[in-house]
This record gives sequence, structure tokens and C-alpha cells, in this order.
Amino acid sequence: MLLENMEPVVKKFYDGVAEGKYLGRKCTECGAIEFPPHLGCNTCGHGETEWVELSGHGTLVSFVIPGIQNDKPYLKEIAPYGYGAVELDEGPIYTFVVFCGKKKIVKGLQERLHAGEKIGVHAKPIQRVTPVKPGEPETIEWSELCFELDEAVEA
Ligand SMILES: [Zn+2]
Repeated sequence: MLLENMEPVVKKFYDGVAEGKYLGRKCTECGAIEFPPHLGCNTCGHGETEWVELSGHGTLVSFVIPGIQNDKPYLKEIAPYGYGAVELDEGPIYTFVVFCGKKKIVKGLQERLHAGEKIGVHAKPIQRVTPVKPGEPETIEWSELCFELDEAVEA
């Protein structure tokens, strides 16, 4: 792909998240999906990919509760959470913040994963307001893509 033809993929991705649309890039050669989007294909090395809207649903691959050093107060204010690898229904795997609901769900989550249980998750974007540059007063509003256990909603 020529440089002058490149799209601002990061902006398009975040604009999508804000609208509840989860955009990836699909390789026009092998069909692999890059998510979060990437202009080239990391599976076969092909240079052409096209936009594809994903379901925003997947299954949990792994899950860890944050330690003191990487616990984020702004996340804890929303709901109990951990960090997890999520395999989207369309195939790509990436790590996200995963809201996990009540402590009774978290207990045994890793054991259930090790036992091979499929634990469903869905996209849960959260609103953020952060400085445009660290330490400066000007702020920007954006949506951070997090996930949530399906069963956290049912509970
Ligand atoms: Zn490919």
C-alpha cells in the first residue's frame, strides 16, 4: 500500500468504538483478521487489507486479577475487573480489560478456563477523559474498548 493512500486507522478504530462498532482489517489474500486494525497482514505478510465490522463478542482465553502495581482506580470505580486475552468470534486474539462482575464469578474463573470451558465476553466501551498531553489542562474525550463477562450481566 502506498503511503499517500494510507487511512488514519487508529482514529477510525476509536471513532467506531465510540459508536459501538468494532472495526478490524481483513486480509484480501488469506482472510485473516487484524484486530485492533493493522494495514498489513501479520498472518501471511500481504500488504492489502479491508475494513470489516466485527461482532464484539468472543471467549476468554486467559484472565488475571491486577496486582497493586497495575491496578487502575478509574477502572475499579466502574466495576471489578481483570486483564484477559479475548478470542473474538471472528478469530483474532488480543488482551483487554475484562469486567468480571461479582467476586463469586472471579473465584474459579482460571480453573474453569484450564478445564476448557468456553466463557463468553462482549465489548463494553467505557468513556475516558484524559489530558491531550501529560500534565497539560486540555483534555480529550474518547472511548476505551474493554470487555465484560456475559455472565456478569446475567448475574
Ligand atoms: Zn493474510
